[in-house]
Amino acid sequence: MSKPKKFQTLKGFRDILPEHQKFWNFVFEKVKDIAQDYSYQKIDTPILESAELFERTVGQTTDIVEKEMFVFKDKGGEKVTLRPEMTAPVARAYIEHGMISWPQPVKLWYWGPVFRYDRPQAGRYRQFYQFGFEVLGGSSPDIDSQLIIMSNHLYKSFGLDVEVQINSIGCPGCRKEYIKSLTKFLKDKKLCADCRRRLSVNPLRILDCKEKKCREAVSEAPQIIDSLCEECRDHFVKVLEGLDESEVVYNLNPFLVRGLDYYNRTTFEFYLSDEEVASQNALGGGGRYDYLVEQLGGRPTPAIGFAGGVERVVLKIKEKGIKIKDQTQADVFVAQLGEEAKKKCLKLFNDLRKEGIKVRESFSKKGLTEQLERANQMKVKYTLILGQKELLDGTIIIRDMESGIQEIVDFEKVIPEIKKRILGVNGGVKIYSESAPSKS
Ligand code: AMP
Repeated sequence: MSKPKKFQTLKGFRDILPEHQKFWNFVFEKVKDIAQDYSYQKIDTPILESAELFERTVGQTTDIVEKEMFVFKDKGGEKVTLRPEMTAPVARAYIEHGMISWPQPVKLWYWGPVFRYDRPQAGRYRQFYQFGFEVLGGSSPDIDSQLIIMSNHLYKSFGLDVEVQINSIGCPGCRKEYIKSLTKFLKDKKLCADCRRRLSVNPLRILDCKEKKCREAVSEAPQIIDSLCEECRDHFVKVLEGLDESEVVYNLNPFLVRGLDYYNRTTFEFYLSDEEVASQNALGGGGRYDYLVEQLGGRPTPAIGFAGGVERVVLKIKEKGIKIKDQTQADVFVAQLGEEAKKKCLKLFNDLRKEGIKVRESFSKKGLTEQLERANQMKVKYTLILGQKELLDGTIIIRDMESGIQEIVDFEKVIPEIKKRILGVNGGVKIYSESAPSKS
């Protein structure tokens, strides 16, 4: 028989192994906490959506739609795609579920995988996780400021020092004039092949092209901020004034247009304070999308959102050596010697668990040495040992794993005693003596 093929994750995809989960849980809990503090409600949308949803909103000429979507026809012949981002699905859900009739603005948060057929490299994957916040049904600049302030707090709560790059790309009205002057300026400049094409279809995108010659070409280009109409300028000034009242460190960046078609007015991205502002380093970004809901057939609904990448945050937390408590760390191990003791320990394990004690066992092992070894590996504080002698006496041994000191307590009173030691709840239990564990 030929050797069976060994399967591996696809290029750009990865497993999140148990040893990494504490970082993921940490980030998830912080996102959830801040979302709740700021009254965001959670939404989960499907991973698979109609491809047209993104073609119509993100834009036909963007990298995401042009090159990066995992598109295929399903068995019914419908053109579907793994979602490449979450804002368009949230806007779809807003319309589909009549959220326009909810108290406005509607504030939603999400967490989940997105898929882009990108070139895999450090910190860049084809399946990656995003968390995000969307505020639909409000155009006030305070909403923009508050979203940026909240996201800033979130990164701080991960232990990361961040700065915000911010710009306004105006409304379709003021952008029209700007695009004219930008096109005129760039017409004779040296640009990469992609940007040559963009010049006629989507010149704004040239501003965030990574090619050296394009960066040089745009460095002298007119800035959109100078073309903003009065309302857009006023809106942007108010957003910045809101930030001035906070601890957010921000930099005006006239070239930050963000790649997607649906954005207008405020656009922003978060970077580590000590890292270069280059798109592969962005920790997250967002902006206003006042026309997206309407574009999808809904009523005019001004909105703004922010999406952050989880992998990059986890990477930076690890690189910076930020200490994270392992929530799965147990306090107590239950060791048993003999069949009768094991039966009693099965129940004891569950009783401890119900009392809120984090408890572990290795009931398939028979010898005490092996069990204590497991307990040591698990770094528990105490091991409870039930042998033949204790079974007869109606007692159990509490072993302090650090000092090795062992004490005997009444079996009936072991739970209050452990609760007192671990959770600080008063047990008042009589301890008899120090003793070696009995062998079965
Ligand atoms: P975007 O929707 O492109 O603004 O992405 C928001 C955030 O998601 C970025 O700032 C990154 O932190 C993260 N991100 C984007 N693309 C990738 C990728 N291919 N792999 C990992 N994280 C990514």
